[in-house]
Amino acid sequence: MTLVQSLRQRVEGRRGKLVLIGLFAALFLYPVILPFAVYEQGVLLLAFLLALMAVSWNIISGFAGYVSLGHSVFLGLGAYTGGLLAEKYQVNPLWFMPLGGLVAFVAAALVGMVVLRARGHAFVIITIALLLSMQVLVTNFSTITNGSNGVNVPLPFWSSDYQNMPFYYLFLVLLLATVAFAAWVRRTKFGTGLLAIREDEDKAAAIGVNTTRYKVLAYAVSALPIGVAGVVYAYFLSFINPIGAFALLTSVTIVLSALAGGRGTLWGPVLGGFVVSIVSEVANVYGGGSQSRLLVLGLALVLVVLFLPQGILPAVSARLAKRRAAKQAVEYTDQAGVATARTPIVVTPRSAPSAGKTSAPLLEIRGAKKSFGGLRAVDGVDLTVEAGSITALIGPNGSGKTTLFNLVTGAMPLGEGEIWFDGTRIDRLPPWERAHLGLGRTFQITRLFKSMTVLENVVAPLPSASWGLMAKDAVSGHEAERARELLDFVGLGRFGQQQAGALSYGQQKLVELAQVLMLEPKMILLDEPAGGINPTLVNRMVEIIRDLNRQGIAFLVVEHNIPLVLDLCDPVAVLSRGQVIAQGPPSIVRADPAVLEAYLGPEWLPAEPVPDVVLDQPSLSGKGS
Ligand code: ADP
Ligand code: MG
Repeated sequence: MTLVQSLRQRVEGRRGKLVLIGLFAALFLYPVILPFAVYEQGVLLLAFLLALMAVSWNIISGFAGYVSLGHSVFLGLGAYTGGLLAEKYQVNPLWFMPLGGLVAFVAAALVGMVVLRARGHAFVIITIALLLSMQVLVTNFSTITNGSNGVNVPLPFWSSDYQNMPFYYLFLVLLLATVAFAAWVRRTKFGTGLLAIREDEDKAAAIGVNTTRYKVLAYAVSALPIGVAGVVYAYFLSFINPIGAFALLTSVTIVLSALAGGRGTLWGPVLGGFVVSIVSEVANVYGGGSQSRLLVLGLALVLVVLFLPQGILPAVSARLAKRRAAKQAVEYTDQAGVATARTPIVVTPRSAPSAGKTSAPLLEIRGAKKSFGGLRAVDGVDLTVEAGSITALIGPNGSGKTTLFNLVTGAMPLGEGEIWFDGTRIDRLPPWERAHLGLGRTFQITRLFKSMTVLENVVAPLPSASWGLMAKDAVSGHEAERARELLDFVGLGRFGQQQAGALSYGQQKLVELAQVLMLEPKMILLDEPAGGINPTLVNRMVEIIRDLNRQGIAFLVVEHNIPLVLDLCDPVAVLSRGQVIAQGPPSIVRADPAVLEAYLGPEWLPAEPVPDVVLDQPSLSGKGS
């Protein structure tokens, strides 16, 4: 009985895998069992090709969220690479499959390096432009490409008895290889970084992800399998011309397939590729030609966008998950309870700040300015943070605290001035390089990657720019172990497998802190760590900050909870209208008339009078009121 039960459980747990194995086994056997179903084989092999392209597209547009509307350009590049060389040397085009992949990879990398430095819609436009301009180029460079007359690719070397069967298997194997490749990408730190970029690109940069490199590489990598397949495609067609090889409609069907199946998932694009090819073939045959096919595909796109915005696969798995959840009752009943035991941890900042060894402060901001239009949000700030200190930055709302953080971490370009961190001038460095130097931050409104699990969030940061690190498994091995330790340290060890978005606000703040610790920071900027969270968690937060500080991590804390600031921080800097109006020990700053007027209000006047000598200190006098 128990054996049967455990067997059943095991089968149920792997039901998805079994279905896939069964399906692909059937696809492998199909031409053997029905060798004369030539037409059906032809339809299926094009479905494999479309699925392959959708899976590749998904790497840049599903994982990283940068939509390419011209992805068939790489099919054309591969087809022309293989076709032209095969025609010229009269050899089997399949020898050029690696070269086709390489050409596509390099072309995408070059275009990516130009356009992916920026954000947003430029990329979409460029991808279409690339496709159309390749069409024009290939048409016009007729000395090499034979222009619009096209290229006759050598005919298949195998006996015509086999018909399309070799192509069928070639595309099927290429499809499986591409899926395996995409699955591997998704598992690595590179893949996690791409998801991070999709969800919140600025945040990704702040935790050490070199977003430019990631995007360019993702685009190039997503072109590669299509370039390889393009060579096979040219051989299959045996004739290629610019209009057919660089077809806009192919690009549209790639996008439609991935959207219909489930963009961002692994198998969704495969499913979508199959569905779209078969629907379009049916429309072609029964609808009377290619016009009706266009109509059906257009209609399908509208239907998908309206009714299955997530795609078929996510919709189905959501439905299954709901049923399963109903069966298993509620598992996370204690979600509200926050306080699990914290465990101590050793953080050892990369170069433990040696007190007194160097006299230079860890962070030094000189004359920093930043304007938004006419508004001078940061207006000539001089501020230093000593190694090993917990420095506070307080001031009224809108005084420029968050903006100053953005300038220090590189989320915004500095207008004027200089910022030095640990002996390096950092104000021109991209955010990820600043993170790699050991500068971490949390956000006023937490910015976790909400669709990832808590654990995935904590392993996402990259403490260095090493290429090897990118290829490492995201959630296994040493890194994941460290992430679990850090979660235990902030007392959230049990929540590792939960969606980050399901946690309470305070818990999210703690996860964000654990995330920053993954960077092995020397200094952490905390933007309102106690803002909007319950008192138990505030106490825990303070405990954690103290604990980390004892181990050598410096903090710059923006916080409105004044008792907390006065208790935790020394020194305290006060910002008002973009300028530091006071900086010094808490007891002195709280008595500074300029501070009382600008921010604290009279109720913070200390009971006993503060000696005059202190008030006369130059560091306390308001600068430029
Ligand atoms: P604080 O964190 O001290 O409350 P902020 O740094 O968020 O203050 O804001 C300082 C000033 O700059 C505010 O007047 C705010 O409206 C403005 N500001 C902040 N960010 C931007 C932005 N991205 N674009 C335009 N104005 C901004
Ligand atoms: Mg703020």
